[in-house]
Amino acid sequence: MQIENIVYSKQALQMFQSEIEIFGVTETGGVLMGFVNNNTIFVEKVSNGGSKAIHEYLYFRADPNYVNMFIDIESANSNGQLRYVGEWHTHPQLVPEPSEKDLNSLFEIAETSNDFCLLLIIGAFDFEVDLFLNQSISIVNYKGEEKFFSLPFEITC
Ligand SMILES: [Zn+2]
Repeated sequence: MQIENIVYSKQALQMFQSEIEIFGVTETGGVLMGFVNNNTIFVEKVSNGGSKAIHEYLYFRADPNYVNMFIDIESANSNGQLRYVGEWHTHPQLVPEPSEKDLNSLFEIAETSNDFCLLLIIGAFDFEVDLFLNQSISIVNYKGEEKFFSLPFEITC
């Protein structure tokens, strides 16, 4: 499978915005749930990190119990239509760049997945929802491949 494009739902955007309003440039994030159709990943629902997540200026870790529960519930509520597609987190940057740690962790998750993992990084510095397309990067890694692909993305109309 080759992913060519990513589409984020308005509901996903709302979660990004409200998390950035709460945490500012302190990192926050969560998991991305969606489906793949016509070489496009549709990101429909996203979680935050849960109340036991770790938020620091340059570090974020979601609460694994919380996000696993979120994945199970959203998958069940959608009759399996929505699946885990990846992770998102913020950076205290205007134009975010993945750290080496980000890429290593993306690679590791993709290796344990069936096909790929998506990583969305949002620059939280001066963030506004209208700036999402300019202040984010969407990176895909496929299972069994070393290369990372920065892919074009858009918001559902
Ligand atoms: Zn990062």
